[in-house]
Amino acid sequence: MKIAILSDIHSNLEALDAALEYIRGRNIDSIYCLGDIVGYGPNPNECVERIRENCKVALMGNHDYAAVGMADIEYFNDYARASVFWTRDTLSQENMTYLESLPFSYEEETFLLVHSSPSNPSRWHYILSREIAEIEMDYFKQPLCFIGHSHVPVVYSADKSISEHHIYLDTDSKKYIINVGSIGQPRDGEPKLCFVVYDTESRELEYVRLYYPVNTTYEKIIKNGLPVFLAERLLKGN
Ligand code: ZN
Repeated sequence: MKIAILSDIHSNLEALDAALEYIRGRNIDSIYCLGDIVGYGPNPNECVERIRENCKVALMGNHDYAAVGMADIEYFNDYARASVFWTRDTLSQENMTYLESLPFSYEEETFLLVHSSPSNPSRWHYILSREIAEIEMDYFKQPLCFIGHSHVPVVYSADKSISEHHIYLDTDSKKYIINVGSIGQPRDGEPKLCFVVYDTESRELEYVRLYYPVNTTYEKIIKNGLPVFLAERLLKGN
């Protein structure tokens, strides 16, 4: 079975549509979304609707949580806070209700999904080093945990960090924490959207990187009066 795992869409419809079109052209059985469907970008309603239509499971991210008024946004920077208020005003009641219903985690026999960290999925801690990842590995029983949140694609095992496009996951003897990267706001210096495809039989993990019409998203951010910084960073992927 082939699954696609997406995260951190951030209301970027052009990036999400490019990813979904690519997925439709591959033999993929299910799509999972790790949260932050909204926040930062100009198309929150459309992105929520695409996720509802296409994903088997979607999780709560910190920006979704903030958009529906459930999170303390004191720790958000000015740009993020401005986008939270704009997103709240823009979301339909139906999409708000959907976002409110999202769970913090989801598991199957071979993997756990969370937005932030397996130890405490609703506290929004970041896993930014192999050392932290090693501690977090005690908090799930499956061989694999897929995360988002930092927008930086990387695979952690107990003894190393791996940044390659194709990785064989030895799930018989190892555990892995896999950050799937971000669809709508990549931050690893590469403006292409990012997500993973995992083949549960061959155990191959593939990072997919694609260009999308970023200038369209850029113009929509400006037109809607969202902070210019949020448009500029899409061009650089930072
Ligand atoms: Zn995010």
